Amino acid sequence: MEIETKCLHAGYEPKNGEPRMLPIVQSTTFKYDSSEEMGKLFDLKANGYFYSRLQNPTTDAVAAKIAALEGGSAAMLTGSGQAATFLSVFNIAGAGDHVVASSTIYGGTFNLFNVTMRRMGIDFTFVDPDCTDEELEAAFRPNTKAVFGETIANPALIVFDIERFAKAAHAHGVPLIVDNTFATPINCRPFEWGADIVTHSTTKYMDGHDATVGGVIVDSGKFDWMAHADKFPGLTTPDESYHGITYATQFGNGAAYITKATAQLMRDLGTVQSPMNAFMLNLGLESLPVRMERHCANAQKIAEFLESSDKIAWVNYPGLKSGKYYERAKKYLPNGSCGVVSFGVKGGRAAAEKFMAGLKLGMIATHVADARTCCLHPASSTHRQMNDEELLAAGVAPDLVRLSVGLENADDLIADIKNALAAL
Ligand SMILES: *Cc1c(COP(=O)(O)O)cnc(C)c1O
Repeated sequence: MEIETKCLHAGYEPKNGEPRMLPIVQSTTFKYDSSEEMGKLFDLKANGYFYSRLQNPTTDAVAAKIAALEGGSAAMLTGSGQAATFLSVFNIAGAGDHVVASSTIYGGTFNLFNVTMRRMGIDFTFVDPDCTDEELEAAFRPNTKAVFGETIANPALIVFDIERFAKAAHAHGVPLIVDNTFATPINCRPFEWGADIVTHSTTKYMDGHDATVGGVIVDSGKFDWMAHADKFPGLTTPDESYHGITYATQFGNGAAYITKATAQLMRDLGTVQSPMNAFMLNLGLESLPVRMERHCANAQKIAEFLESSDKIAWVNYPGLKSGKYYERAKKYLPNGSCGVVSFGVKGGRAAAEKFMAGLKLGMIATHVADARTCCLHPASSTHRQMNDEELLAAGVAPDLVRLSVGLENADDLIADIKNALAAL
């Protein structure tokens, strides 16, 4: 099946007389005829459902669809993108371990790594995604357990050189984890470039309608845990909380990582996605290829319009020929990148604020990657505690406007932007 077909048919195949649409199994628990049968499920000796904190038929079907879209072997839904990021790393790194991460990742991820996970005893080294080979090499330590990056960085829109970072990670015997939220599997499948694990905030394009917060972790099934057994004892030695199961030997490379994340971390931490939210996410996935095409076409038109305006200081969009990441985007994102465009308004912070207030269609919201166009001025919202100097150090120019281009008619959006610029 091609990806458009998978968006509709992967993960759920109704049998004779069963509902055509994925049913919402809104049940916490599942009934069994004997304690013995249930015991087998608890021991992971049989496959089945017993409690929706671990597995639920609706969330499983949606996870299987996303695994198919990414070309992975297994996946697990989570209650948010933040939960997906946390579990993806915590599944293979604990106190005393170290992770190499791109410095231009989503702000929420940066804070999770730099503050909260450091408090848990995991150390991080942040590297510029365009650093030299020597700088990248120097970031690794004997206790490094993973490398983490973002296909298209939010909000910097830097295109990550997945192949290069995968090679570096593998040379050190560790997996590359890629947050593929902005590109979606429609525009980039990081596994095809050597990534081992993919995460998403499904809150963004996958849901796409501003309706549900969610996340997902997908495993490529290609990383050989046993070949690096000493680095990943959680997967390669017996789990005493599961009667001595060794995930890598019992479930193999294809299922070990997600089985551990589900049976151990989801069991203990409980950051599940509800069946109702998974149902809505599935609706979003069905139309994802059609929507991504339109998001990208609209964003391209708007980026080109902005570039031609004398009231705009600079424009950053991976699809612009003038952009620093145009060539890299052609390699990793040949069919389009995403619908997010960032730019600076001449006149700095004050002009940016005035411009945004003048937009009628583009709503001011902290959200991105949604059907409705929205925009954010980080300097006066998410980063408002910083002065201009601090903003520049954080890679957020005081005049930066992040425009998440929706599915409206591009001419309507351009008219709205023209109108707001005319008032400056
Ligand atoms: C929003 C976002 C997240 C966090 O996801 P939530 O669903 O808001 O928890 C992670 N990564 C990227 C790239 C994001 O845009």
